[in-house]
Amino acid sequence: MDSLSTRKKVIEHKPMNFWERMYLPAIIGGLAITIRHFFSKKATIFYPEVQREFSENYRGLHSLKRDENGAERCTACGLCALSCPAEAITMTAAERKVGEEHLYREEKYAAVYEINMLRCIFCGFCEEACPKEAIYLDGNIGKADYSRDKFIFGKDKLVEPIVK
Ligand code: SF4
Ligand code: SF4
Repeated sequence: MDSLSTRKKVIEHKPMNFWERMYLPAIIGGLAITIRHFFSKKATIFYPEVQREFSENYRGLHSLKRDENGAERCTACGLCALSCPAEAITMTAAERKVGEEHLYREEKYAAVYEINMLRCIFCGFCEEACPKEAIYLDGNIGKADYSRDKFIFGKDKLVEPIVK
């Protein structure tokens, strides 16, 4: 068999029968798939009005925790910042004053604590490194915004609210 006849055989098409020429089976098959998906469970949700349930080991936004008396657990030791591969965490330590025991758990606390969420890769190393169980990635997913500054999260966004 020469190469010309081989090529001819490859491009040879089977002649269509009557129904194939009408395209009806293909149209009905396509409609059946559309109808099946119309009534099946949706893969999409109306985010952000509707939020998904996340698994227990999902890593969301960070939160800085308080102890059982409502005092901030973070002692500004810096281990989270040291372990952060993205260098996303910065902080400024301060000394607790007399009378501030209800605000800060130990003598040292983070006067400033910031995470650059645009740098963060949600690896969870900060959470693992913290000796005070002060930081957890248990928040929801981040919000979209128009300005990069809005993604520098300070204590106002990170420290969990006092439960009354
Ligand atoms: S989750 Fe990872 S990247 Fe994000 S702040 Fe913590 S250590 Fe850094
Ligand atoms: S969050 Fe934990 S590791 Fe980070 S500075 Fe505070 S106490 Fe140290």
